[in-house]
Amino acid sequence: MALIVQKFGGTSVANLERIRAVAARAKETVAQGHRLVIVVSAKSGVTNRLVDEAKALHPTPDKREMDMLLSIGEQETIALTAIALQAIGVPAVSRTGGQARVITDRSHTKARISSIDGDEMRERLKEGKVIVVAGFQGVTEDGEITTLGRGGSDLSAIAMAAALKADVCQIFTDVDGVYTADPRIVPNARKIPVLSYEEMLELAGSGSKVMQSRSVEFSSKWGVVFEVRSSFNNNPGTIVKAESQDMEKVVVRGVALDKNQTKIAISDLPDQPGTAAKIFTTLAKAGVNVDMIVQNVGRAGIVNQTVTVPTDEAYIAEKAINELMVDLKGRITACDRVAKVSAVGVGMRSHSGVAATMFEALAKAGIAVQLISTSEIKISVAIDPSRADEACRVVHDAFQLGEG
Ligand code: ASP
Ligand code: MG
Repeated sequence: MALIVQKFGGTSVANLERIRAVAARAKETVAQGHRLVIVVSAKSGVTNRLVDEAKALHPTPDKREMDMLLSIGEQETIALTAIALQAIGVPAVSRTGGQARVITDRSHTKARISSIDGDEMRERLKEGKVIVVAGFQGVTEDGEITTLGRGGSDLSAIAMAAALKADVCQIFTDVDGVYTADPRIVPNARKIPVLSYEEMLELAGSGSKVMQSRSVEFSSKWGVVFEVRSSFNNNPGTIVKAESQDMEKVVVRGVALDKNQTKIAISDLPDQPGTAAKIFTTLAKAGVNVDMIVQNVGRAGIVNQTVTVPTDEAYIAEKAINELMVDLKGRITACDRVAKVSAVGVGMRSHSGVAATMFEALAKAGIAVQLISTSEIKISVAIDPSRADEACRVVHDAFQLGEG
């Protein structure tokens, strides 16, 4: 007998048919003798609709009231799921975040979980009940409802699994698991059976957005092993856990694509200590997330710098840099969309030649590399967005990640 936490996202509880499917799956799990905690999101689209309604009334709605409002999406699905379970003879009870004793700090709309007291839940589980907990929400010490940030029900499930010391944590979603590349772009992409937390962050972060990245960071911190799998079938998914030595045998685990990057090139900057600091302080103050950074070797007292930023922050970034140029005397020479293609794998730590293979493959396909950045487990290139899909296929092939 195991204690299992199953989390179902918005598409998996989108309507009564899907909620019945969740209940049927839970019934099977219970019939196998397991104890079960279910964490659910709001029906897909509901949280967005609530946000829109509040913003139609007020441009900057009060955050406490936003949490009061947004928490109702999950309150609907916990009750419906519990009722669906009861309807097929499975004893079940719903719990809001507060009732499940998910205690958070007071940062409304982006609260942090400080503790979960699982005693009451353990009692109910012992009675043979399935507990259906509202994801995405918690409560402060003084009883105020909080939410954990968008996509936060993943974090709720991971935290619940950690607090209850669950044997298994399953994240049910509308994809089958994490793939070696986006299967819509790379037709022979394969499902990855096992992956490390770090690889998951790199692969899901820039591409498929399979899971909220903060929840992956927390799984790693708390050592929660989880499985990402589909609620639409019974196929095994992708298991995500701490890196182990045998994982390093595979050099490249997958290819990630981020089409939402804009490259800003700044030239004629003074080649002196403090220039880079000024640029990055300015961007940080403007709330811009800089991704890739390249600086060339200075010549004649002048350097050029190129950064990439998320496209929806490019306008703010450009404005902030332009303001700084009054002082630094440089100028922006380009602000273009780029696509970032990354090869990811913990095996890169112990293998060489990965960059060579990747660049050769791109060169052979005639795809020009505009920027390069690397980390211990990732090599990224910025390229023309019109070649992005092709670049993914080429890199995927170069590392023989495809089927067969
Ligand atoms: N319903 C919340 C959202 O849409 C939480 C979640 O789905 O994980 O962000
Ligand atoms: Mg989600």
